[in-house]
Amino acid sequence: MAVVHAHAEAVLPFTVTRTPLRPVIHSGSFMGAEVPVWDIADRFGDTNLLVTNMDQGRDLAQCLGRKNLALMRGHGFAAAARSLVEVVRMSVYTPRNARALLAALALGEVKPLSPGEIDARNAGYKPYSPETQRAWEYWARRAGCGDMLH
Ligand SMILES: [Zn+2]
Repeated sequence: MAVVHAHAEAVLPFTVTRTPLRPVIHSGSFMGAEVPVWDIADRFGDTNLLVTNMDQGRDLAQCLGRKNLALMRGHGFAAAARSLVEVVRMSVYTPRNARALLAALALGEVKPLSPGEIDARNAGYKPYSPETQRAWEYWARRAGCGDMLH
């Protein structure tokens, strides 16, 4: 089990508008057809937008539910997965998908992945496949941790 929290800039517009973040690229399928948006103000009123106590943390976790990804209004996102490799993957592909969707919205009508495409992608995903391992090595090297791989 692993979690990640990030303030990825490309995701922020989807936290403060009614335009939903949807998977539009194959590598964004993990987010599912709908991504929940957690608004801290719904239950806690005016705050500094940070999760600062267990009640707020539990409320965010409840919003995430069984999904992999939840957006946080005016703040960023939280993602959960079975492994560190998978949450790093989500940290890379959530903003990439958001950038692709933002660019597509500027062009016109957007065709997101269908539920069947999402299922087909997610059924074929293997966390320890050579493809995933290659990506993991690439990200580790980019992060300056390549010497820790072997
Ligand atoms: Zn934060």
